[in-house]
Amino acid sequence: MKIKRIRGVNDILPGEIEKWQWVEQIAHKTFARYGFKEIRTPIFESTRLFSRSIGETTDIVEKEMYTFQDKSGDSITLRPEGTASVVRSFVEHKMYGPGQLSKLYYLGPMFRYERPQAGRFRQFYQIGVEAMGSGHPALDAEVISMLMEFYRELGLKGLKLNLNTLGSNESRTHYREILKEAIQPNLSKLCDNCQGRYERNPLRVLDCKVASCGDVAETLPKIREHLIDADRLHFEQVQGHLKSVNLDFVINDRLVRGLDYYGRTTFEVTAEGLGSQNAVCGGGRYDGLVEEFDGPSTPCFGFAMGLERLVTILPEEMTQGIQSRPDVFVVMLGEVAQRAGFPLLEAMRREGLSVMRDFEGGSMKSQMRKANKSNCRFAVILGENEIENKSYQLKNMETGEQSNHSPDSLVAEIKSR
Ligand code: ATP
Ligand code: MG
Repeated sequence: MKIKRIRGVNDILPGEIEKWQWVEQIAHKTFARYGFKEIRTPIFESTRLFSRSIGETTDIVEKEMYTFQDKSGDSITLRPEGTASVVRSFVEHKMYGPGQLSKLYYLGPMFRYERPQAGRFRQFYQIGVEAMGSGHPALDAEVISMLMEFYRELGLKGLKLNLNTLGSNESRTHYREILKEAIQPNLSKLCDNCQGRYERNPLRVLDCKVASCGDVAETLPKIREHLIDADRLHFEQVQGHLKSVNLDFVINDRLVRGLDYYGRTTFEVTAEGLGSQNAVCGGGRYDGLVEEFDGPSTPCFGFAMGLERLVTILPEEMTQGIQSRPDVFVVMLGEVAQRAGFPLLEAMRREGLSVMRDFEGGSMKSQMRKANKSNCRFAVILGENEIENKSYQLKNMETGEQSNHSPDSLVAEIKSR
């Protein structure tokens, strides 16, 4: 019986995984420079956590969640995103306090029942960041700047930073009415999805990807023109801070994002060369979510980026050298050499070298072929004579140069090169 992987999920194999590990390392290092600490939350949570935070009328909650009943009858959902879990954990472990800022990041798989296509999967990986405890516009700019710094470390160029504001609840309540009025005469031109959500979530029309909705959206009033003063000021200050560190951005009035908890600043980073699934990161401010889960009023700013798309656009010159290769391949000829070889291998590994061998006990030629294939830097050749004379042959696989060494000096010799 041949069983294949489920549609829309991936195996990440050696040869490819090195890129992922490299990206993860850069994330750990870059985020640490900004004082962020990693948090790991469970992959499944109570379904309510997501429906309440992401929003009942979002695509994710309406049709994309992997929800099931466990054996006790509780409704469980595989996390479709990371923010809800981090907020739950933040409240549960009381990571708050007067003037306290929690800077957290996470990394791991997310699950959404979407139509699989290039750059869109049902299990995909995200790295996400949540800065919790300040409503200062400089925090928005700092977190966005950290993201762009991370991309710079990866050697990525030509990324586009799209920025918008959704205003606070106060601005949005007011704008929602203006928007509904403006949409009303065009309601029949909208897709079924938007028509259905018009009453409860008219902002969705702004970023609907259906062409006819896009045409209507172009004619609609902009939220930017209907902000209360505090929201307008916040948005101006975010832009000022971004400019002060020379970060280019474009304002995209139709950037709404697919999660209902966002307010004030929202942003998305898009990349070329990805076709229509070109968003590599999305984020923004969510000042009301912690309170929604019975925590104290805690303004927050965060983002999440998809790793599959990111890994496909890594510049080749950056990923060329990251494949791991063994330092040494030990060729063992005959029974005696096999026995003496194992302790030698283990001693070399304890010294920090990466060491490979063959278990087939083949000829010199066949073992050297395997050594070559392993892409090792050195081969050590052990035969009965070498063991008897305590003089091991060392071959530099790049230059072909050969020399003999005592068992004691061998490791030092390899390390010195
Ligand atoms: P999209 O517009 O691509 O549907 P989204 O608005 O649903 O993205 P978020 O929920 O904010 O995206 O997730 C942040 C990032 O996660 C996206 O920018 C993208 O890089 C990645 N992402 C989202 N959904 C998927 C998916 N199904 N497969 C692969 N990556 C994804
Ligand atoms: Mg989506």
